[in-house]
Amino acid sequence: MKITVLSGGVGGARFTRGLLALLRDRLPDGRGGTTAEVTVVANTGDDMWLHGVRVCPDLDTLMYTLGGAVHEDQGWGRRDESSRVSADLAAYDVGWEWFTLGDLDLATHLARTQWLHEGLTLSEATERLTRRWDLAAQGVRLLPMSDQPVETHVVVDDPERLIHFEEWWVRHRAALPARRFEQVGLATASAALGVLDALADADVVVLPPSNPVVSVGTVLAVPGVRAALASTSAAVVGVSPIVGGAPVRGMAAECLATIGVDATAEAVARHYGLRGDRTRPADAPGVLDAWLVDTVDADAATALAADGWRAAATGTLMHDVPETARIAAAALALVGR
Ligand code: GDP
Ligand code: CA
Repeated sequence: MKITVLSGGVGGARFTRGLLALLRDRLPDGRGGTTAEVTVVANTGDDMWLHGVRVCPDLDTLMYTLGGAVHEDQGWGRRDESSRVSADLAAYDVGWEWFTLGDLDLATHLARTQWLHEGLTLSEATERLTRRWDLAAQGVRLLPMSDQPVETHVVVDDPERLIHFEEWWVRHRAALPARRFEQVGLATASAALGVLDALADADVVVLPPSNPVVSVGTVLAVPGVRAALASTSAAVVGVSPIVGGAPVRGMAAECLATIGVDATAEAVARHYGLRGDRTRPADAPGVLDAWLVDTVDADAATALAADGWRAAATGTLMHDVPETARIAAAALALVGR
């Protein structure tokens, strides 16, 4: 079975870890892995240059989580991390005091940056980084959405200016009113090699409970991705990141408000859109067949089902890996897998 996941950082990584646990159990390869092939297409809109190194937050959250090295409570970064280099940089008054790069994490960025300078694409550099974490042995391949830099920026007021997404998100905690998001570099970017094929050839495509605007929304905006989802023979199922009218963690509500979408499980589903819905604009076809919501949002499932969606409600809080595997099973069951 081939499964492709369009992911942001923490929400998408935790979901994928549970999905892999499920697949190891259901489709074991006899060597502790799975015969299923999972491709994760990561948002790279949060990427940036800092201290001369290329930082790719969502790719690294996925790599550390699936590689068993993530700081579990934080959800991102390395466990047993220290920040001696960042502290010493601050003593020189360089960089941003609100964005700390951990010492171990810095090794990842240095390795990636060296390979990028040698001429490797981001996909190739990512593949080299993931070798260390044995992702291939787990049956999972990690791809950036694009090999060209695409960076999410935010238009804010007083004075009107464009700031990098990470500055808005980490420094201002999304509290600075945002007029709109701009994906700098998007128009001339293309999907990384393998991304469109992974959508066309999949049996199932999953939109995990990632931020629908600045994680999955950015991946969907890469030229060709939305059309590939609209036309794939795969079943496409999503899991709501919004539970009871609010995101489970993070500031997705502020992102949704910026694009004029209510922070409800139903509104997010309708924003993604139902595949084959002819009432949608031709340049933004619907991308989902099915939508899994939390038990507290059972009404949303009922309303969507009345409009032709495959929808169901279950507990969707990813407390631990076994519970997340159960959520992944519920998502696959919704599309008959
Ligand atoms: P980021 O790039 O690190 O912000 O991570 P993602 O975009 O992949 O995921 C962020 C989203 O995950 C947020 O909108 C959260 O609401 C959602 N999320 C986090 N934990 C859970 C959970 O346990 N259950 C559900 N349903 N959503 C979650
Ligand atoms: Ca992110």
